[in-house]
Amino acid sequence: MDKHYDVIVIGSGGGTKLVTPVAQLGLKVAIIEKGPLGGTCLNRGCIPSKMLIHTAQLASLIRDAKRFEIAINGEMEIDFEHLIHRVSRTIDDESNQIAPLYEKNPNIDYYPHEGYFVDKKVIEVGGERLTGDKIFIAVGGRALIPKIRGLDKVPYMTYQEALRNPKKPKKLIVIGGGFIATELGYFFSSVGVETEFLVRSILLRPEDDDIREAFQEAFAKEVTLRLGCDFQEALYEDGLITIRYKDGNGSIKKAEGDALIIATGIKPWTDTLNLEKTDIQVDEKGFVKVDDHLRTTQENVWAFGDCVGNYLFRHSANFEGEYLFRTLFQKRSEEAIFYKGVPHAVFSSPEIAGVGKTERELKEAKIPYIVGKNTYAASARGMALLPETGFVKLLFEKHTLKLLGAHIIGEEASNMIHMLILAIQMDATLNDLLRMIYIHPALPEIVRNAARNAHKTLT
Ligand SMILES: Cc1cc2nc3c(=O)[nH]c(=O)nc-3n(C[C@H](O)[C@H](O)[C@H](O)COP(=O)(O)OP(=O)(O)OC[C@H]3O[C@@H](n4cnc5c(N)ncnc54)[C@H](O)[C@@H]3O)c2cc1C
Repeated sequence: MDKHYDVIVIGSGGGTKLVTPVAQLGLKVAIIEKGPLGGTCLNRGCIPSKMLIHTAQLASLIRDAKRFEIAINGEMEIDFEHLIHRVSRTIDDESNQIAPLYEKNPNIDYYPHEGYFVDKKVIEVGGERLTGDKIFIAVGGRALIPKIRGLDKVPYMTYQEALRNPKKPKKLIVIGGGFIATELGYFFSSVGVETEFLVRSILLRPEDDDIREAFQEAFAKEVTLRLGCDFQEALYEDGLITIRYKDGNGSIKKAEGDALIIATGIKPWTDTLNLEKTDIQVDEKGFVKVDDHLRTTQENVWAFGDCVGNYLFRHSANFEGEYLFRTLFQKRSEEAIFYKGVPHAVFSSPEIAGVGKTERELKEAKIPYIVGKNTYAASARGMALLPETGFVKLLFEKHTLKLLGAHIIGEEASNMIHMLILAIQMDATLNDLLRMIYIHPALPEIVRNAARNAHKTLT
């Protein structure tokens, strides 16, 4: 006999937004999760990586202490093994607290297995068959592994293993140039691992060129960067990993190390859902096709988060989950989802954050704009940091002076960006940013000075 639910949720990352809140409305919910509860962000993504990066930032500061007239006598020692164990234990404890909450709630049934469709409306999980009035697919993704000859015989790590491996490498190779690669690479290099990046094209491709170039210049002081690599072969012998690649001039080069991280993108888990049994369509990369209400191509099935591929962040998955809860269960409204400037951050060194349009996007869309930039060094608080890099860039629509995009590279970028997320949310203009009172001498004065510089371009 099939078990029937009001709601079935597959995946417990952003999917959790539709579990307890829906159950609290008195509806019966099935949550299906094949891995640890909490999804990628908690177990192998945002949270462990930022805990490790905090140690990396402290190590960088200590290494830099002399510039601030602080002498550190003796060697700095990082207990790498203990660090990894502490972080893993903390996130495991967090994850383990979720199941008892579900078990206590009579409206929630938790299925700790892989779920897949056996019919249009029937999901099989752990030997049981479930049907639901509403089905939500929030299965996320896993590391995408590039096709490199011999790679299958090399003991590489993805983010999943890298965040939990207590053995500190001596020489690490990172293949990839996105935010996961640059965050992990920064962590390892800052705790004393010699790190070499092999990147097929460029670093942090979605960023504007000035942000990317500033990042690249600073990052190259910490790690070895090889861009434009055409990968030929991966080899493993006697504990040594070798990657052979052609550089931009077509010369064959090699990188060697005792550890390798592959961070070249995300592949959605949709290939394990048996979607052939349904009318749910995916695109050529396997991301679920949804409309502007996050409806799939099959009635009463929605999808969101990484498996849809609109934005690959936990905050966007949460935003989408909350949108679905609001429109389907609270207001029952027909409003389409509207992403008003999805922010992002790269927690590497230097830190990057952005919201709204990039300058490249404005040019491509032929939207007239003015730009205001200001460096960290040219502000009172920024000066105290002795910054070697860092600036704020603001992009305003030329006629209305509405803020369309904001981009920051430098210390506290991920915190600083929040006033500009709000500004975009509230349709703020250049004048709004100029008229507010900034605390002197706090870092947001860098934003004000960028706004002043934009204003100067008008006269
Ligand atoms: C190293 C790293 C650092 C990151 N840092 C950040 C950050 O700082 N900020 C940020 O916003 N984002 C960050 N991200 C991205 C973020 O983790 C993801 O965007 C987010 O977790 C996506 O949420 P989701 O709910 O779509 O998927 P997930 O969190 O991946 O959840 C999907 C769940 O579905 C389960 N599942 C899959 N298939 C099935 C099935 N058939 N049956 C049952 N269960 C299934 C999976 O086991 C998984 O638990 C990071 C990612 C990584 C890898």
